[in-house]
Amino acid sequence: MEKVKCGRPVAVIGSYAVGMTIACGHFPAAGETVPGRNFEMMHGGKGSNQAVAAARLGGNVLFAGCVGCDSFGDMCMDLMKEEGITGSYIVRSETGRSTGVGLIYVNEEGENEIVIDLAANEELSAGDIDRMVPALKECSLVLMQLEINMDTVIYTAEKCRELGIPFVLNPAPYRQMPEKLPGLCDYLIPNQTEARLMLGLDARSEISDEEAASRIWEMGAGCVIMTLGADGALIVDKTGMTKVDGIRVNAVDTTGAGDTFCGSFCVALAEGKDTKEAVALAVKAAGLSVTKYGVIQSIPYRKEVDSIG
Ligand code: ADP
Repeated sequence: MEKVKCGRPVAVIGSYAVGMTIACGHFPAAGETVPGRNFEMMHGGKGSNQAVAAARLGGNVLFAGCVGCDSFGDMCMDLMKEEGITGSYIVRSETGRSTGVGLIYVNEEGENEIVIDLAANEELSAGDIDRMVPALKECSLVLMQLEINMDTVIYTAEKCRELGIPFVLNPAPYRQMPEKLPGLCDYLIPNQTEARLMLGLDARSEISDEEAASRIWEMGAGCVIMTLGADGALIVDKTGMTKVDGIRVNAVDTTGAGDTFCGSFCVALAEGKDTKEAVALAVKAAGLSVTKYGVIQSIPYRKEVDSIG
């Protein structure tokens, strides 16, 4: 059945990749071949995950990214259709690059080794963003991550600033970014590791979360929301710092929690909720997501989130 979504769209611009997981007794050494089992292929990419989260939370969502002219690219288009997401701004690589892929080995201890080729994702260009401008003008906000070309992220952030469209950035996975980028963000949503890395610190630095969040805010973003795993999230803006507690759940797999958080947060903002209310919704949705295995399978629907009060 056709899903009809109301309200001004949330634009999610970012990556799509296919993740392929295979379990093995031990990781292969150089030159070694080891038997694997339980092969699984799933939708991934932080952009696409966040778009799905936003759609399941009830948002009218537009997703833009670049995929290959291959069956994995078709999987992306199918996913968008299934989730009721507008995919008409997804472009296909013009240079023959494949859709993004991630290869994941999981050993008996549950540790993983991951190799990612962003491939076509890196081709989303300023020109593609320009072609979207009429659609972006109708959007309530734009949400991006750092799994595509950094120049395209900067270009989009500047375009949003010029057009007066709120720009939300999840600086994940962490990459060195130009100094001006935080200042172009209306909302910047790092997790604890990304926040430390953004400050040039070791990922395990003992700086307090409060200090890290304040120092990130001083880099120029309108509002910093630092996610704290089970502890919830810290909000820092010009009015000060607020903490929103996490929900208590039986966590089985936290992969994708940050993506669920970002997508849900943006839907709540698009609905006109204030920052704290939006974080409260995101904390609930992300908390529910860690109670199930996987990423896409674990992203909850609005009904489930609202039912936990
Ligand atoms: P990431 O997934 O990017 O590493 P976090 O671990 O900070 O980010 O998680 C994002 C959000 O997911 C948190 O703000 C919280 O709302 C929720 N969350 C993560 N882990 C748990 C947990 N164990 N229990 C409850 N909520 C969680």
